[in-house]
Amino acid sequence: MAQERCYDPRDTTLKFVNRKDDITGDDYESLRAEMSCGHAVTPESVKGWCSELLRRNQFIFTCPAEINGMTCGKEWPYHEVCKMALLTTKEMEEFELTMADLFLNLTGEIKKCPGCKSYVKRKNPSSLSVHCTMCSEIKGWLFIFCWQCLNQWKGPLPRADRCDNTNCTNEALELLRNCPETFINGQSWYMQPTVLCSS
Ligand SMILES: [Zn+2]
Ligand SMILES: [Zn+2]
Ligand SMILES: [Zn+2]
Repeated sequence: MAQERCYDPRDTTLKFVNRKDDITGDDYESLRAEMSCGHAVTPESVKGWCSELLRRNQFIFTCPAEINGMTCGKEWPYHEVCKMALLTTKEMEEFELTMADLFLNLTGEIKKCPGCKSYVKRKNPSSLSVHCTMCSEIKGWLFIFCWQCLNQWKGPLPRADRCDNTNCTNEALELLRNCPETFINGQSWYMQPTVLCSS
């Protein structure tokens, strides 16, 4: 069994408290200390919760403590998470890689090429087909992938709605096509709606 991580009782930068862990509600043997939001944690509970957030594609760390039915929700800066979760250098690297991935995908400006896993910036925002120079160099032929489904491009070029991969759909566009009135205040922008919203 992996050894439980514990705070150093001599660490004078920490504010130790005697109450239960505010995240898990557990009363560990392990020392509890206060986060900047005032809630009591152990290194295990901070690490466990922040890893869970990353698994849910969240890279902003917020306090999950429930006090009188209210969630704290205060943001913990990353450096505080590192310190309070007693992350090792290797764990910090893993956290940072995941955070960077999530962030870059979120901004939508840069995505990971499905071929070489390098980050590619889209030159033409109105076209879904993106040329990866790195892959093309390695493979010796023009490698094009789809910005939407992140697979190798299928079908004719250029297109702005989808490629010919079966899982390639623009969810926002589908919603608009199927349900125009919800979005455009009753004004039918898309000829005649054939499918009406059930809700
Ligand atoms: Zn809190
Ligand atoms: Zn590539
Ligand atoms: Zn596609």
